[in-house]
Amino acid sequence: MHTFEFVRPKDSAGAIRAAATTKTAQQGADVRFVAGGTTLLDLMKLNVETPARLVDINRLPLGRVEATPDGGLKIGATVRNSDLAHHPTVQRDYAVLSQAILAGASAQLRNMATTAGNLLQRTRCVYFRDTAMPCNKRDPGTGCPAITGSNRTLAILGTSESCIASNPSDMNVAMAVLEATVHVQGPKGSRAVPIGEFHVLPGRTPQRETVLEPGDLITHVTLPPPIAGSKQLYLKLRDRASYEFALASAAVVITVAGGKVTRARVALGGVGAKPWRSPEAEAALVGQMANATNFRNAAEAALRGAKPQSENAFKIELAKRCLTHALQTAVTS
Ligand SMILES: Cc1cc2nc3c(=O)[nH]c(=O)nc-3n(C[C@H](O)[C@H](O)[C@H](O)COP(=O)(O)OP(=O)(O)OC[C@H]3O[C@@H](n4cnc5c(N)ncnc54)[C@H](O)[C@@H]3O)c2cc1C
Ligand code: SF4
Repeated sequence: MHTFEFVRPKDSAGAIRAAATTKTAQQGADVRFVAGGTTLLDLMKLNVETPARLVDINRLPLGRVEATPDGGLKIGATVRNSDLAHHPTVQRDYAVLSQAILAGASAQLRNMATTAGNLLQRTRCVYFRDTAMPCNKRDPGTGCPAITGSNRTLAILGTSESCIASNPSDMNVAMAVLEATVHVQGPKGSRAVPIGEFHVLPGRTPQRETVLEPGDLITHVTLPPPIAGSKQLYLKLRDRASYEFALASAAVVITVAGGKVTRARVALGGVGAKPWRSPEAEAALVGQMANATNFRNAAEAALRGAKPQSENAFKIELAKRCLTHALQTAVTS
């Protein structure tokens, strides 16, 4: 691994000052915040990330889960994934989030991984992680060998001619259906970004994955109050039962009254260039009877725009079945 400086600021302002001169959260940055390190140090060992300075944010007071005055939840940026998944309020009111986190990685990794780090985890595309290969995301303008190469695990929704990488996070899919807000503090002040606007599609600039600007520090994530009477579920399909990323996953929050769907939030994982909320599926569900035919119709709507690559056309049917089954299981639970 290359050499780098390691700094440990005591407050958020110090951390932001230390990072404000660089791209920070985007590919190729000279300065990186480090939280659990489970993505960043991995990529540094592979020379995919070569920051000159690491700003350790673990001493900042960002490690708490608290109720908000409106009945929602505030989750600090450095709250560990394990602590969040096992938090009693999360298990009771935001079960889809707990399930999604526990479906990811391993117990040891979840003990280190943080809320903000998980939001910003990088793709598992094999070419991105191999510096001997070209890759538009890692080294803009060099090309995308995945399009004609190994793409079985990559995206079918939201891709571009420059990049077909999938967002690998399970937690992000749950955050999408819970309509989380990401709170950011930067050199120009604080702002709140809805989760649906936080990640950006690859377009011609796949090296840029989020709306974060130089020096921006994620301080916390908020969740709105839980929806009374709703059923929630996260379902993850993968090559083996644990310690594996999703080939397709579905997060659902659904409310049914008198046999009809009155509210639905639906998102897919493993298939999108970003965590894939599906307004099409939601529109197809609301007002319809909560039954298998209508759940399948919603899944058809969610995947209508899918563009398969040479090795991953199977994901279209897999994602449809995943979503149909998730909806069916949620309403009968
Ligand atoms: C073997 C393995 C298997 C895995 N399997 C899964 C899986 O099945 N499902 C899944 O969802 N995930 C999986 N993961 C990924 C794991 O969830 C992430 O690595 C983890 O969530 C990242 O969190 P972290 O705190 O360690 O991030 P770090 O590595 O510390 O940081 C990641 C990125 O976020 C930036 N960053 C961190 N905090 C902030 C902040 N507050 N503000 C701004 N920028 C910040 C860093 O600069 C860095 O760019 C796996 C990882 C490994 C190594
Ligand atoms: S899919 Fe994206 S990450 Fe993978 S090789 Fe192509 S540009 Fe790189």
